[in-house]
Amino acid sequence: MEKQIKRLIVAWITFPLLSWLYNRKRVVSDYLFMNRVERKSSDALESTRRKRLSKVLRYARRHVPFYRERIKRSMVQNPLESLHEIQPLSRSDVIEDRIALVDRRLHDSIAFADKSTSGPGQPILLAPFKKHKLVRNTSSGSTGSPTTFYEDGSVTARNWAIEWRVKRWFGVKPGDLEARFVRMSSEDIKSNRTLGIRQKLWNQVMLPGVALTDREYHWMYEVLLEKRPRAFWGFTSAIAGLAGFIRDTGLDGRAVAPAVIITWAAPLYPHEKRLMEEVFGCSVTNIYGTRELGHIAAVCPRGRLHVNSESFIVEADSTDGSAGELLVTPLVQTPMPFIRYRTGDIGKVSETACDCGMGLQVIDEFVGRTGEIYTTGNGQMISPNFWCRTFMDVDRAASIRRFQVLYRKDGSIRLLLVPGKRYNSNTEKRLLEYLDSELRGNVPVVIDHVESIKPMISGKYQMVVKE
Ligand SMILES: [Zn+2]
Repeated sequence: MEKQIKRLIVAWITFPLLSWLYNRKRVVSDYLFMNRVERKSSDALESTRRKRLSKVLRYARRHVPFYRERIKRSMVQNPLESLHEIQPLSRSDVIEDRIALVDRRLHDSIAFADKSTSGPGQPILLAPFKKHKLVRNTSSGSTGSPTTFYEDGSVTARNWAIEWRVKRWFGVKPGDLEARFVRMSSEDIKSNRTLGIRQKLWNQVMLPGVALTDREYHWMYEVLLEKRPRAFWGFTSAIAGLAGFIRDTGLDGRAVAPAVIITWAAPLYPHEKRLMEEVFGCSVTNIYGTRELGHIAAVCPRGRLHVNSESFIVEADSTDGSAGELLVTPLVQTPMPFIRYRTGDIGKVSETACDCGMGLQVIDEFVGRTGEIYTTGNGQMISPNFWCRTFMDVDRAASIRRFQVLYRKDGSIRLLLVPGKRYNSNTEKRLLEYLDSELRGNVPVVIDHVESIKPMISGKYQMVVKE
C-alpha cells in the first residue's frame, strides 16, 4: 500500500513538477497521448503525423534560416507526400551551419548557451522563468565527428514519456522503483547530495555505469537485492558486465527479480541479451536513438523494433524499399529542427505489422552503423552478428567475460578477451580453430588477454573497432 502511494506521488506530482522546473514540460500529457495513439488504426496515426509534420515544416520555413529556401509552401500543405523532396540533413551540415539551423529569434540565447560553463546538455534550473532557455549539447561522435547542437528540454521530456511507454509494454508503471546505471563512478554517486535527493523524489536507485570493477559489481548486486527495482535502465555494457559477474561468481540474479531491463546508447547484441535474460530471468529491451533526436524506437515484447511513430518519421534511404541509411524527422517542434537527419544507421522500414497489435511503424534488418561491417581483403563480409554468434557458443559464453574485436590496418584481427575463471588454453585453441575455418584461413587472428574493456567516453561499449 505504502509503495503504491509513493509510486503515485512520484509519477503524477514530484517527477512532472521537477521536470517542469527544468523546462522539461508535458511528460505526463505526452505519455497519455502515446498510450491513446499506439493502439489506433494506421489511418488515425497517419492523420496525427500529417498534422505534426505540417506544423514542424511551417515553423522551420518561417523561423529557421537554413530551411527558408529548402522548404516550399506546397510542402507544408502536403507534408507526408513531399517530405522526400527535402534534401537530407547531414552531420557536416550541422557542424557547418549550426547557427542557421536554430530559430532566428533565439540567436541571443545561443551566445548565452555557448558561454555557459555547465557540462553539455546540463539543464537550467527554473528555466521556465528565465529569458534564455537554450542549452548547448554535444553528440558523442561515435561516428568520428562530434556535433554541437542546441535544445530547450523538450527532447528530454519526450524521452521520459517514451521511457514510461516502453516500461508499460513490460508491465512497469510510471513511478515504479527503477535502477539507473549512469555515466558516473560509484564514488561520484555516493558523494553527490543532489543525486541523493533526486533518487528519493523520482523513486530511482542510481548505480555507476562506468569505471566498473568486481568490487563495484558486488556492491551493485547487494543494493539491487535490497531495493528490488522493477526496471533497470542504462548502458548495455554496464548491465551486461554486472550479469557476467553474477554468473561467474555463482550469485543468484533471479532473486533481484526485475520485470524488464532497458538498455540504450548502443545496439543490444544477441549474446548480451541472452546473458541478461538468463541471469536475471526477465525481459530485455533496447531503445534506439541519437543524442540529437532522442529515443527514436524501442523493441516491443515480441522482439520487433517499433518507431515512436507519433513523434518521428523514419525513412530508409534506398530507392526500392530495401535496407538503407535511416533518415529521421522528429515530429515535435524544437528550436533546432532536424529534418530527414542522416543517422548513419542502416535498417529497413517494414511492410508487415507486428503481431503485438501496435500500429507503430516497425524497423527490420537493423544493423546499426555502417562502420561496423567489415570486408576482408578477399571480399568476405563480417557483420557484428558473426561475433555475437561466435561468443554465444556455450563453452565460450561460460569462459569469456567480455570481448572486443579490433580490425587492424594490416588486415589482421586482434581480439581482446577478458577471460573468466573457466578460461583455459583449450578454449583459446578451439576459438582460433573455429575462426580459422569461418574466415577461411584468410585473416590472421591474434588474441590478447586484458583485465577489462573500457567503454568510450560516452559510456558506449564498442564491440567492433576499426583502426
Ligand atoms: Zn510489436
